[in-house]
Amino acid sequence: MARTPLIAGNWKMNLDHLQAVAFVQKLHWTLKDAGHEDGSVEVAVFPPFTDIRTVQTLIDADKIPFALGAQDLSTKDAGAYTGEISGAFLKKLDCGYVIIGHSERRDYHGETDEIVAAKVQAALKHGLVPVICVGETLEQREESGPTAVSVAQLTVALEGVPADAEFVVAYEPVWAIGTGQVASPEQAQEVCAALRAVIADTLGADAAERTRVLYGGSVKSGNIASFMREPDVDGALVGGASLVAEEFAAIIRYQKHVGV
Ligand code: PEP
Repeated sequence: MARTPLIAGNWKMNLDHLQAVAFVQKLHWTLKDAGHEDGSVEVAVFPPFTDIRTVQTLIDADKIPFALGAQDLSTKDAGAYTGEISGAFLKKLDCGYVIIGHSERRDYHGETDEIVAAKVQAALKHGLVPVICVGETLEQREESGPTAVSVAQLTVALEGVPADAEFVVAYEPVWAIGTGQVASPEQAQEVCAALRAVIADTLGADAAERTRVLYGGSVKSGNIASFMREPDVDGALVGGASLVAEEFAAIIRYQKHVGV
């Protein structure tokens, strides 16, 4: 089964709702002019919560073929949880995806593997596709090898997930996020293959075959093609380089400019 590559832009806390409009329009026209809105690569943007309504309206009005996602969600559905955002609200705004367990949330907001697992359940409950982020720090890589941390994190995140659930996994080595220190394609492949094996062991061969596993960490137009050549890398979660329309468009067009 061929998996449609997914190139996802995590804006983090960048671009307000007015800047978001300019950015999405520019990205759309750059890709359209290049003849690259043909569905061969799925494009998803993950703006801050305050931009989502604006981006949704723009995508809808101009029939822009980008998927929309949020960067986090609450484990709760509704109620007295000040500052939290329910998956139900995201679904109403046509979000298809939600990032869960990004290392910045694990690190700065104390998100444990158990919280990540609860958020995965919340996403699935509300019909959102979780993008489950896993990855090791440099210290952890040196201590326990390249795959142990990511395998353990994903194993907990998948507890209670049904075999037919749609989700995405993003391998994001912490040492490569926003550092310019990119993993080699071989390093990415090794961990992505180990993560696919976890999916196979937990949910079966079909789930492993259809689920997209992304690499994330200092992806740029100059290195994306080398990752996409790896058999277990099905796309990229892109941070910094997703904020510059021409650069993000060049990443999305990796097949064209390098001839993969
Ligand atoms: C990320 O934060 O998901 C990420 C991969 O960031 P960057 O591309 O900037 O390393």
